[in-house]
Amino acid sequence: MQTNLEKILRDKSLSVTDGRKKILTLFLNSKGALSHADIERRSGEHFDRVTIYRTLQTFVEKGIVHTIPTDDNTIMYALCKDGCAENHHHDDHIHFMCTSCGKTECLNEVHIPEIRIPAGYLTKETQIVIKGICKECS
Ligand SMILES: [Zn+2]
Ligand SMILES: [Zn+2]
Ligand SMILES: [Zn+2]
Repeated sequence: MQTNLEKILRDKSLSVTDGRKKILTLFLNSKGALSHADIERRSGEHFDRVTIYRTLQTFVEKGIVHTIPTDDNTIMYALCKDGCAENHHHDDHIHFMCTSCGKTECLNEVHIPEIRIPAGYLTKETQIVIKGICKECS
């Protein structure tokens, strides 16, 4: 586990710091996506908000985690599968938000279908969030 963590960071040319290791561990151990507040709560007293914020920004830039939009403008973060690189994400999957337990997860095997939009518009990113009841709650 320890080596895996360090490998992920080193593969992205990031220096291995306690903060990065700890936050990455939270993602690796979490089944669903995490918000800034989740990370703050789960990491205990160790990090201030700025450290968490900066670490998340770095992880997004380096292709380690991707963001998921939510209704209340809280940004959720989820671990990327292989294939995401610095400033270039390939997370073309659907996200599922459970209205019962509130968990948001990546449905990595469900790809976003190509959506045709009118000429003159340019798609940069398509996000689909499905709301419903997850496997564990149904
Ligand atoms: Zn990604
Ligand atoms: Zn649920
Ligand atoms: Zn995802």
